[in-house]
Amino acid sequence: MTTATTVIIGGGHAGGEAALALRQGGYTGRIMLISAESSLPYQRPPLSKAYLTTEIEPDKLLIRAAANFAKAEVELVLGHSVSEIDRSARSLRLDDGTEIHWSNLVLATGSRARHLALPDPLAVEPSNLFYLRSLEDAQRLKGALLPGGRLLVIGGGFIGLEVASAAIALGLSVTVVEAQHRLLARVTAPEVSAFYESLHRSRGVQVLTGARIERFELNDDGNQLSGVTLTDGQHLEADIVLAGIGAVPQIELAEQAGLDLDDGVLVNEFCQTSDPTIYAIGDCSRHFNPVYGRRLRLESVPNAVDQARTAAHSINGVAKAYEPVPWFWSDQYEVKLQMVGLSEGYDRVVLRGDPADGSFVAFYFTRGCLIAADCINRSSEFALAKRLVQARLAEDAAGVLADPTSSLKDLL
Ligand code: FAD
Repeated sequence: MTTATTVIIGGGHAGGEAALALRQGGYTGRIMLISAESSLPYQRPPLSKAYLTTEIEPDKLLIRAAANFAKAEVELVLGHSVSEIDRSARSLRLDDGTEIHWSNLVLATGSRARHLALPDPLAVEPSNLFYLRSLEDAQRLKGALLPGGRLLVIGGGFIGLEVASAAIALGLSVTVVEAQHRLLARVTAPEVSAFYESLHRSRGVQVLTGARIERFELNDDGNQLSGVTLTDGQHLEADIVLAGIGAVPQIELAEQAGLDLDDGVLVNEFCQTSDPTIYAIGDCSRHFNPVYGRRLRLESVPNAVDQARTAAHSINGVAKAYEPVPWFWSDQYEVKLQMVGLSEGYDRVVLRGDPADGSFVAFYFTRGCLIAADCINRSSEFALAKRLVQARLAEDAAGVLADPTSSLKDLL
């Protein structure tokens, strides 16, 4: 009898967690973890935060030590990418031609940074243009963030704003260019955007919203960006440019394998793709979320970890449906944002506390139910906010939420 083999493609947060969760759940077959990166699975969140401003050894970023993978008998194939999947033969091919057979496959291929559409002809990618996805990207960026430098951040989302805050701490001058009319427009209310805009301005960041880039300028050697010109004619000079303009799911393998896709690999509540022997987890997958009644592709560590566990349970024959209320966090300066739920489509926002005090919660309602909360420097209330969102608190409680002297616990 051949041994059951689960092969996990992608050694990021989701892939690493899936390998360990499978063994923890009693899987007795072979577990292989194949990753294009040469490092063991590591955490990406610090790469735009503490890693840039402090000395952190790369092994401190690992999600689990090598010994844990060895103990769980996870066979690691690092520094190799999978180039092809053959579903009918249940095999895959590595970039060096090696063929590997599987009984279950887990796609954990993550996402990659979206790149700027730079004009032709640029013979080479400018050496001072940065994207931030991997440890290698962070190491390069960290080396370039020198005191006195001028950093231009393209994109006022989480990664751009976190790098802006790190760069300020490192003594650079920073400009953030955001095409939308406010920062974090896709994910927060205007009140929260306004708080972040004023926070960054108060630390010296030049924040330009509703700003579109007309032209990229190169230095005389043609190998570095020297600045940009905006559509309103404003010229911005830069020594370093960081583009934080979103991420793109890595679904090429799933596409080649003929799996169902929709800006992500489509999965059911057990993280199974349209081929029930193949699972997809983390940033590369899109699931139907019963709480929000629509398909979601989430880019967050909690999602990567929970989907990894869901797939592992399912492969181990104890299927548990994945029905999450998403959550996320961001650190900028000394301000911690913790978000639960998705606020998109909200029809009412209720503030608890005053943004001017640097600590407040924004609660979001849709059609009479609480759907999300952003806690700004309110870690003590985050766990309760999570439970209130999970419970879909009715809007009649809005008055209590808005009263900072009331207890959130009493609403549960
Ligand atoms: P990834 O971490 O992208 O891992 C995918 C892996 O698969 C990569 O190693 C890739 O090289 C490999 N791979 C891809 N294709 C192949 C192939 N064909 N063969 C072999 N290997 C392959 N989330 C939060 O919740 N909070 C935060 O504060 C936060 N901050 C972040 C800051 C930064 C700078 C970044 C980049 C992300 C941040 N995130 C944060 C998002 C979070 O890190 C991701 O959601 C999470 O890493 C997703 O894990 P994943 O395993 O799905 O994908």
